[in-house]
Amino acid sequence: MKSQLAQYALEGKTLDDVPVFDAHAHVGEWATFDSVTLDEQVAEMDRIGIDLAAVSSLVALTGDIRRGNDRIAEVIAGHPGRFVGYAHVSANYSDEMVSELERCFAIDGFRGVKVYPVGVPYDDSAFDPVWDFARDRSAPVLAHTWAANMNGLENTVQSRPDVNFLAAHAGSEFTYQAYIDAARAAGNLYLDLTYSREHTNMIEHFVESVGAERIVWGTDVPLFSMAQQASKVLCARISDSDKRKIMYDNAAGLFGLDRPGKK
Ligand SMILES: [Zn+2]
Repeated sequence: MKSQLAQYALEGKTLDDVPVFDAHAHVGEWATFDSVTLDEQVAEMDRIGIDLAAVSSLVALTGDIRRGNDRIAEVIAGHPGRFVGYAHVSANYSDEMVSELERCFAIDGFRGVKVYPVGVPYDDSAFDPVWDFARDRSAPVLAHTWAANMNGLENTVQSRPDVNFLAAHAGSEFTYQAYIDAARAAGNLYLDLTYSREHTNMIEHFVESVGAERIVWGTDVPLFSMAQQASKVLCARISDSDKRKIMYDNAAGLFGLDRPGKK
């Protein structure tokens, strides 16, 4: 069957009448890239047709937590309706994780929690107050994982069924099975497709193995190309209804958002 959504990518058309939610994006610069400015980032969202992006800060990821989270607050406020924020917290500052979450969530637009490995596994008790906070605020948690090293997330998702987690870069380095096993064992784990390579049949295999309802799309901008990340889903050999779940519905559900009015 011909996919209408594949035509957008093949013809280079903006996804004007298709709701699109980038659930894993950043603001800031990455050392190895000639990074885009925020204006260029928003212009590229418009060119592709990305309505909304959930962003965390690369400054926070590399150590300056408060400054990074403050930048996210500025970006959200400066672009009404285009961004929601992940508050970044680090186990390097474990005493400040909850107070930082409370500080951020008092600001309009922060809806998720971002964590990154710094030598403390996610199943360490240091994270318990963070997961409690996420449960209390119904906030999804985007946890960086890479290849078969899920940094303990495969255990956390089972011990904390009261929190929804996204495993970033699911399947990276050909490690599909680790992510499929973890998702099958815990209904609160969602597989995030951000990855700079697209292995043959990876998306099709994930959909077949865990269902499109458990897969969430993102770009990882400015690290990865928005166009490439969008095209790999639009052109996958899955149904258009599954593509819509992956590119909007699932993330909107996790963040408790309705469909944008314009589409
Ligand atoms: Zn990322």
